[in-house]
Amino acid sequence: MASIPRADTHVHSRFSVDSTADPLEVCRAAVDAGLQYLCFAEHVDLDPRDDGYGYFCWDAYRRAVDETRERFAGRLDILLGLEIGEPHRYPREMERLAALGPDVLIGSIHWLPEGFVGDRAVCRTMGIGGLFRAYYREMLDAARHGGFDVLAHLDFPKRYHGRAPEDAETAEAIGAILAEAAAGGLALEVNTSPLRKGRHECTPDIDILARYAATSPTPRVTLGSDAHTPEEVGAGLDRAQDLVRRAGAGPVGIYRARRFIALS
Ligand SMILES: [Zn+2]
Ligand SMILES: [Zn+2]
Repeated sequence: MASIPRADTHVHSRFSVDSTADPLEVCRAAVDAGLQYLCFAEHVDLDPRDDGYGYFCWDAYRRAVDETRERFAGRLDILLGLEIGEPHRYPREMERLAALGPDVLIGSIHWLPEGFVGDRAVCRTMGIGGLFRAYYREMLDAARHGGFDVLAHLDFPKRYHGRAPEDAETAEAIGAILAEAAAGGLALEVNTSPLRKGRHECTPDIDILARYAATSPTPRVTLGSDAHTPEEVGAGLDRAQDLVRRAGAGPVGIYRARRFIALS
């Protein structure tokens, strides 16, 4: 396969509540991993139940990214992104964040009304089928609402609980989300973090990517490790690239100033 510029479009640093990584160390790791593009995607958690609620600070984040850009000029193209949890539930906040001028807004679902998606007790109470159905309802609402650029880790609950039950309802829910993503011009992110959690797939994996390629006239894809430490930067991107190619999806690219730039 033709080599494409390597971009990790989803990494965290100490500006996210669940990471202690120094942004400069993260950039150093990206250069060492041979990346050309690195996009920070710090958590903006707006659900009061989240540990990160009220944690995010744009000004400090912006300054830190400016410093990394100065230090790594000519070696690494550094992008300033945000990962917003349940964006459809916080439309005003999303507008406010967009007005700050990030390179990309990544929309994620981490919380259900019943609790955190990865919580085992929540999964026990709801059943795995119930949890996935509730999760996909949230994701469909988010995709329908729009206002952001990338739909992150589409079948994310499997990172914690394994695959969704393969039933007609689940397949239909995924189809509806992909149709909304296609209509709204949302890119799909291939997130490699499940590979580091003992799973053998990215989120989403090839089956969903192939459906996306068949649904969208412009099946744009971004690749992200979801690294929370420097060691994880760039992890699994080759695998993700290969999945995209085999699924017939793409182009793969990055966002700068909220515009998609194809790299392949
Ligand atoms: Zn996430
Ligand atoms: Zn993340």
